[in-house]
Amino acid sequence: MTPNHAWDIDDFVHAAEMTVQGLAAYVRESQDGTAPVIRRRPPGELAGRLGLARWIREGGMTPESYQEWLDTYLVEGTRLHHPAYLAHQTAAPDFPAALADFVHGAINNPMAIYEMGAAAATVEFEVLRWMLAKVGFPEGGGVLTHGGSLANLTALLAARAAAAPDAWTDGVPGDLALLAPPSAHYSVTRAAAILGLGERAVVPLDVDDLGRIDVTRLPEGLDRARRAGRRPMALVAAACATGTGLYDDLRPIGEFCAEHDLWFHVDGAHGASALLSEEHRHLLDGVELADSVIWDAHKMLRTSGLVAAVLVRREGDLDAAFRQRASYLFYGDQGFDLIGRTVECSKAALGLKVFLNLAWRGERGLGEHVAERYAAAHRFWELARERPGFHCPYEPESNIVCFRYGDGDQAEIRETLLEEGSFHLTSAEVGGVRHLRVTVIAPATDDKTLESLLDRIAALGDA
Ligand SMILES: *Cc1c(COP(=O)(O)O)cnc(C)c1O
Repeated sequence: MTPNHAWDIDDFVHAAEMTVQGLAAYVRESQDGTAPVIRRRPPGELAGRLGLARWIREGGMTPESYQEWLDTYLVEGTRLHHPAYLAHQTAAPDFPAALADFVHGAINNPMAIYEMGAAAATVEFEVLRWMLAKVGFPEGGGVLTHGGSLANLTALLAARAAAAPDAWTDGVPGDLALLAPPSAHYSVTRAAAILGLGERAVVPLDVDDLGRIDVTRLPEGLDRARRAGRRPMALVAAACATGTGLYDDLRPIGEFCAEHDLWFHVDGAHGASALLSEEHRHLLDGVELADSVIWDAHKMLRTSGLVAAVLVRREGDLDAAFRQRASYLFYGDQGFDLIGRTVECSKAALGLKVFLNLAWRGERGLGEHVAERYAAAHRFWELARERPGFHCPYEPESNIVCFRYGDGDQAEIRETLLEEGSFHLTSAEVGGVRHLRVTVIAPATDDKTLESLLDRIAALGDA
């Protein structure tokens, strides 16, 4: 221990090497599928196993005791690299992104102001420029933030500033409304509440039986809001919806919004990454009509959580959100400060994770990942609907698939799979009925995995 609390460099190198070895074994074992995908020990027992109280009280960890501790920590967690990980929309991070987390952890450049990390800030700026180009916002601006929920809030704050510029100083007018399908991610309703509109200001749009916005009934939705004395400040569409993975039909919705002077927000947290796949880009046709788009990197761009982009078509809209003087960002001699565009003050160097994945794999490599996972999910759907007892309510458009087996309690099937540690999947309601739901997201998941999932579910359902 160095007396002045500076890093003991030898200890650091030693512990870091152990971490690399530990993680290498962990990821190998996870990708091979030789360990359970999830363990579900109760927290009290885990706290004991991990010696949490003792470590917190006494400290004194060394590289050796750390190694043992880390092994337990890894074994007790959920393995996102595992082929049977089919649950939430969270990436098995690629290793360049993992290196970025490590570098940031060591150097800590909270770069929301340029002087606190010129390299990190410039990387973020260029990553955003790349994303803006992909979405089709040549005059646009953006910022990276900690996750899609915060990104939705930020984008809708920009929408509020456009509809009610004085809200920042005078408070929110009582008549603002938000048009969104009931299937919108819960962070949209939350944003309405946080922004001071209130949850009741979210006017539900008419949807088809799979929860997609019914384009022909958009005028009725707008009328409903206006008849209730409300002034819609934005319309939210999903690309794609969290529950089903289905995309709203962006172009006609965008045209409707333009015609009625409505801010068009596209929640592309999960599905905007399809822009990188030649084969799937059409799913986002019309996205360039949006006023704002959000796009998560920790879902399909293979970074750890959380990295989300808030992208706006007109750069000044984002500066106006926080009532800064519109200070469009460009390279100046003194750099630029992204702090005026985010809820966060200090902020992690989020751009680095995206950048290193791009630098390593290329836009093409990331696009292929998206295309392969979407294709694997499609094959799962083909396999499932051929089998007796399985019911699939729709053809998947992304890597999210909902299905049922038999008429029994689907939640019970899921519970057993998790308890066994054999498969990790989720469930979702489609048309008011509980379905099993898989997100094919780990690169290790192959057709064999998906076939054995169907086998296991059939066996459990028939038991
Ligand atoms: C995941 C998701 C979000 C929330 O993103 P976080 O990064 O988890 O906060 C919002 N909208 C949609 C459509 C999503 O799929």
